[in-house]
Amino acid sequence: MKPEILQPLFRPTSAIKGVGPKSIRLYENLGIHKALDLLWHLPTNISHRKFVDHVSNGTVGEKVTFIGTVIEHVPSFSPRQPYRVKVSDGQSVIDITFFKMDKRYIRRLLPINELKLFSGTLDLFNGTHQMTHPDHIGEPRNRDLWEGTQTVYPLTAGLTSKGLQRTVQNLLPGIPDLPEWLPEALIQKNVWPTWQEALRKIHTPKTDEDLWGTTKERQRLAYDELLATQLTLSLIRYHFQNRSGESLTTTSHLLPKLIASLPFKLTSSQNEAFGEIQHDLAQPMRMLRLLQGDVGSGKTIVALLTMLIAIENGGQATILAPTEILAKQHSHSLSKLTEGLGINVSLLIGSMTPKEKREYKEKLATGEIHIAVGTHALIQEDVIFKDLKVAVIDEQHRFGVNQRLALTEKGAHVDVLLMTATPIPRTMVLASYGDIATSQLTEKPAGRKPIDTRVLTLDRIEDVVGSLKRVLDRQEKVYWVCPLVEESEAMDYTAAADRFTELSPYFPGDVGLVHGQMSDDEKEEVMTAFKNGDIRILVATTVIEVGVDVPEATVMVIENAQQFGLSQLHQLRGRVGRNDLQSSCLLLYGHPISEIGRARLQIMRDTNDGFVVSEEDLRLRGGGDIVGTKQSGLPSYKIADPFMHAHLLNTATQHAHAIVEKDPYLKGQGSETIRLLLHLFEKESALIKLNPV
Ligand code: ADP
Ligand code: MG
Repeated sequence: MKPEILQPLFRPTSAIKGVGPKSIRLYENLGIHKALDLLWHLPTNISHRKFVDHVSNGTVGEKVTFIGTVIEHVPSFSPRQPYRVKVSDGQSVIDITFFKMDKRYIRRLLPINELKLFSGTLDLFNGTHQMTHPDHIGEPRNRDLWEGTQTVYPLTAGLTSKGLQRTVQNLLPGIPDLPEWLPEALIQKNVWPTWQEALRKIHTPKTDEDLWGTTKERQRLAYDELLATQLTLSLIRYHFQNRSGESLTTTSHLLPKLIASLPFKLTSSQNEAFGEIQHDLAQPMRMLRLLQGDVGSGKTIVALLTMLIAIENGGQATILAPTEILAKQHSHSLSKLTEGLGINVSLLIGSMTPKEKREYKEKLATGEIHIAVGTHALIQEDVIFKDLKVAVIDEQHRFGVNQRLALTEKGAHVDVLLMTATPIPRTMVLASYGDIATSQLTEKPAGRKPIDTRVLTLDRIEDVVGSLKRVLDRQEKVYWVCPLVEESEAMDYTAAADRFTELSPYFPGDVGLVHGQMSDDEKEEVMTAFKNGDIRILVATTVIEVGVDVPEATVMVIENAQQFGLSQLHQLRGRVGRNDLQSSCLLLYGHPISEIGRARLQIMRDTNDGFVVSEEDLRLRGGGDIVGTKQSGLPSYKIADPFMHAHLLNTATQHAHAIVEKDPYLKGQGSETIRLLLHLFEKESALIKLNPV
């Protein structure tokens, strides 16, 4: 139950004064379902609109509102000429002009002789006042909605800023004065207003500066949100880790054998990361660690070492992958790596027959399978382990929080290793995971040469095709990636299929095609042909993005590279450079390309370091959603911007940590207000976990 004092904030929109039955749905379009949502819908602008009796009293270039009579329609006869409507304000005639608008619509909107209200930017053209595409054309009686200073909100069709502003103003006096949850010292240091004052001030901006994210009011609210989020993450982690942990240490009967059998030496990054993991496993609490490492940095082997410790201790391990192709690849490479160790690595995927699945589950339940590799099929309720001790989640951002939790519930005390090849800058790690323990693989295995990246215009495509001949002569392979066309799979297929058809005659029998509309079996077949060398140029849509390992591939061509996200380009580029040969990545771009688009491709050309790529990407985009966090089930923010408020994020993380250390059940004195904060941000699920079941 929400505390009584918060009830007014959780009233449904329909119970707010000024919200009619018709507008409820419009508010919903904006994600506003209750009073609090409306308060958190922050203004983005202020506008000043002057009402003038005669346009001659208005200032050219500024917003004005006036009332006038429609006197004449002057249709245009060339598409470049505007449709004009002459309107009299009783003193002079104004042209209302429309470009490329349906004539019938304009005639219906502005019948001759009718009195209408117009509001928009006033212009002067050849000595005549004009207004092009007015912001509003309506009834004179609504004049007060279109004059004066106005707070501008993000809108949806059918709602006006003025209307929304009024509704918010109706709410402001009733905002409860909540007891303060922030420490006095923090407030004093930052000279922050109370929560109530902050909201009131934010919704009545006087100047443009009042709208900046750096005002005391917005910082205060951002901090509240960051603290609530960090606290939730911190609580979940604390209670996850402290529940009946088990201390796992190596018994040395598998690890040394495996390490001796590897055809290479571990990099010092790998050794370091594994050392950190071993330390975690030896603790009597559960491990929750994020392993970050660029594509090709060798995460799989670190995962295997981790899983072996579970097996040495008589338990089982599992590794979860986001796609079947990737799961199969893991299964294949793990089986190979563990040859001769007497370990049963076994794959579970959705496309297996019911009989195969049944047999699989039996072996899992009896403990016959040591390492279960699979897709989300592993998360199903009827998948039961005999004794799951370690769970590895690869490309973890592709799984929701609930899926990850479901997996960890499959053993009494499961240690968890999350892995990601998306190099997430520290700020984003904090914003998404809180203060989670992180290991990084910062170096590539020895002998790898940096990938030579070039940026070329699309009209150089023939030179590129010509150069591929030499690549094939060297017995190397080529990826050719075509972009998604407006996110439509059908179109996306066409682009790749066209390219396939065009390339085939140049390299008879050597070109293959893989795209998103193929079944998994079909994809698999083509990928296998590419791996075996039956085809040597693979034309693909982004389906190859994740994980596939073909070491002889040395050239990556990406068409219309400007359409891809930087992280995605980086991931794609990571498909080559997987052995000691010199690899290259050719980024072809089409026109038009924006300044930023060009700058982004230059970043790709200038660095091979995934962390630099993602930091720069964030910088260019000025924060926002890092690729993938939107669908990931990770927290998304209403007010805070982890990029702009990075300094607050750091403080909030430490603050949350201190609260949980001191009072992990939030039962102590002073914690009532902290609970209130969690309720306010609808994070009470974190509280439920704290109460004994
Ligand atoms: P990723 O981090 O992208 O998952 P993988 O674990 O697939 O990378 O490793 C990429 C390739 O590098 C694999 O073929 C793997 O066998 C190889 N590899 C891993 N560690 C080393 C190492 N220390 N020295 C040489 N090659 C290695
Ligand atoms: Mg991998």
